[in-house]
Amino acid sequence: MSTPERRLTPAELLAFCREVLVAGGARPDDADCVATHLVDANLKGHDSHGAGLLPAYAQHMKDGQVNLSALDKVLADTSVILRIDADGGWGAPAGQRLVERASAKAHEHGLAAATLGHVHHLGRIGAYAEQAAAAGLVSMHFVNVTDHAPLVAPYRGSDARFGTNPVCIGYPATPSRPVFLLDMATSQIALGKVRIAANRGVAVPSGSLIDARGMPTTDPSGMAGFELEGALAPLGKHKGYGLAFACELLAGVLSGGGTIQPGTPRKGGITNGLFSIFIDPTAFGDEDWMQAETDAMARYALASPPMDWDSPVLYPGDPERAIAGKRTKEGIPMDEVTVGQLNKTAERLGVAERL
Ligand code: NAD
Repeated sequence: MSTPERRLTPAELLAFCREVLVAGGARPDDADCVATHLVDANLKGHDSHGAGLLPAYAQHMKDGQVNLSALDKVLADTSVILRIDADGGWGAPAGQRLVERASAKAHEHGLAAATLGHVHHLGRIGAYAEQAAAAGLVSMHFVNVTDHAPLVAPYRGSDARFGTNPVCIGYPATPSRPVFLLDMATSQIALGKVRIAANRGVAVPSGSLIDARGMPTTDPSGMAGFELEGALAPLGKHKGYGLAFACELLAGVLSGGGTIQPGTPRKGGITNGLFSIFIDPTAFGDEDWMQAETDAMARYALASPPMDWDSPVLYPGDPERAIAGKRTKEGIPMDEVTVGQLNKTAERLGVAERL
């Protein structure tokens, strides 16, 4: 049985998130940036990375698992390499600053590689690829997750050893085609989607979870919080497992933030490591030809006759654009359990506002 839902305007949700973050001790500019990132994730349909994270973020502020006075530390800054240690600070502001600085290098030299270590939850990684694409850049992002227990089993394993380690590729829009955005967890489904399913009282798709005995299950209740009784299955068996492992190496090792092996501290927060590459496509050939070829390829792929005429072939990034259009008009749906959790968080922090 699913629980009832409310519709919230983006503006009211944004103001609420901002108030809660400021009451928890976030600097106002950080609170603006983090709140905007969360509501944007809701607008794009990724409720798992939206305002529903606020209770966890409030707990992290209370427990010192996000450094509220963090300052970026530059570990390396060459013509094409940027390495930043975020000092445990908020993800969205540090991520945006990294993209801005690395994008300038890519514009000047054709490409740039950047790492961000010891950063609090970066949220929806597609936001950083969108930022780069808006500046005309191709970008690729690999992310690992530490500071809490692992969630995802390795292929052929029966317990969790990895985070949901997202991989993201963004490719700029052409005059007739929007941004290509592939932004995906390397688990079969994201943990937040399990939490939302548990709050809504619905099952998760088969093949996405294993229980405490290592057996497949569709019941999300054991994985609803951070106290896990099982593991998420890796995306596409050995392939998702391999990508998750690559994220540990690229994002965990190269950033200096560390991998999820047990020698890296686990204090119960959410810490990300990020490895990104930024490419100026104009350094690789004629822009007009590349745009025409991109459009031709997209037309070709999307013209495949769908198996089900109600579900046509889409361009990666289309689902987020479609849902953002709808939610901007109709509001953001939120189940009453999540609304209750957010209001309780506000109450605990002495914030008068309620959803
Ligand atoms: P998802 O499965 O909803 O979508 C994955 C990608 O597939 C998207 O780029 C989407 O545009 C595309 N897509 C979806 N349906 C499509 C279709 N029919 N045709 C073509 N393309 C389609 O995403 P997810 O794996 O559940 O990840 C959710 C979010 O969680 C992502 O934004 C990710 O960055 C985020 N995440 C963050 C962390 C972190 O630690 N910061 C960890 C894990 C996941």
